[in-house]
Amino acid sequence: MRRNPTRAVQVGAIQIGGGAPIAVQSMAATRTQDIEATVRQVELIQAAGADLVRIAVDSSKDVEALAEVRARTNATLSVDLQENYRLAREVAPHVDKMRYNPGHLHHHEKDKSIDQKVGFLADMAELHDCALRVGVNCGSVDPRMMERYDGDHEQAIVASAIEHCDLLDGMGFQRYVVSLKDSDWKKVVAANRAFAKQRPDVPLHLGVTEAGMPPDGIIKTRVAFEQLIADGIGDTVRVSLTLPFEDKGKEVTVGRAILSDIAGGRFRSVPPGLDEGLNIISCPSCSRVENERFIDLAQDVKAMTTYAQEHDITIAVMGCRVNGPGETDDADLGLWCGPTAVNLKRGPEALGHYSYDEILDRLKVEVDALIAARGAR
Ligand code: SF4
Repeated sequence: MRRNPTRAVQVGAIQIGGGAPIAVQSMAATRTQDIEATVRQVELIQAAGADLVRIAVDSSKDVEALAEVRARTNATLSVDLQENYRLAREVAPHVDKMRYNPGHLHHHEKDKSIDQKVGFLADMAELHDCALRVGVNCGSVDPRMMERYDGDHEQAIVASAIEHCDLLDGMGFQRYVVSLKDSDWKKVVAANRAFAKQRPDVPLHLGVTEAGMPPDGIIKTRVAFEQLIADGIGDTVRVSLTLPFEDKGKEVTVGRAILSDIAGGRFRSVPPGLDEGLNIISCPSCSRVENERFIDLAQDVKAMTTYAQEHDITIAVMGCRVNGPGETDDADLGLWCGPTAVNLKRGPEALGHYSYDEILDRLKVEVDALIAARGAR
């Protein structure tokens, strides 16, 4: 199969891009500071066949735990810096790759320019023999880009990725990959195509973020991967599914199965109306989940809303306060989970927070109101 002629990026023992087999990765969903659980999770994901395992780090305590996990596994490790890019100094010695989100670089050290912050990340990566991922995400787009493109997410995420590639290249740092993720598979396809057209040399990490639960989450991801990989786009993949911790290896086996089908020419057709009707998106969960009832809640929301199957309604269920508030904005109804309560939103409007026992009934009131307002499809 034809592949874009991307640069080779070394990540620990594996190569991404440059004609290497498409790498499959996943992310630990356990609390990083629970070292036993995180080591078990890394081993479980590795045993499922992952080339790379990612861990989220939000604090110095998480970094201490990461160092312990690093000492106890030989997995190729990547880390998700999210909002606190400054942790790169402490994190880089322990990992093979660091992901930063251009949309989160404005949170800390507001007196420093984006160039300075990216320069710091590139220096830390260089110093500790790490690769970087520029991970742009629909739910946390650089506000400057949103303004420049008048709220057009797709143009904004592509421009943000291109800007950071130019910055890193200008600094002489080329050991990076890029990802452009959205929960809408069509936007993932469009954004990655637009990016690859401008930068066919940069390796791409593909994923549909918050794809949700199987089987729907697998179908959305498969469709996106088929469209892109068959077109030569994509050097590493992550399937994001909402699953219990002990089933997280499924993200890897599903990723491998999709790649094998694409390589074998076994494509699924894309029937008209794939995206019509009820659409439930939910995050794959990670160490930031503050209450594990989130996973049951995602499943309960799906079961409770079966009666609304025929209605074009999108409900987003997110596991934490870090990405939950932003990544529910585009849904008709959004739920993001805190330690003891679930926050409910109608589009970007906050409706209040409810206990885990109350939230389903409250959500149903909103679903019924939407159905009444819109009528049946
Ligand atoms: S929404 Fe929060 S809990 Fe879910 S994957 Fe994203 S960061 Fe992790």
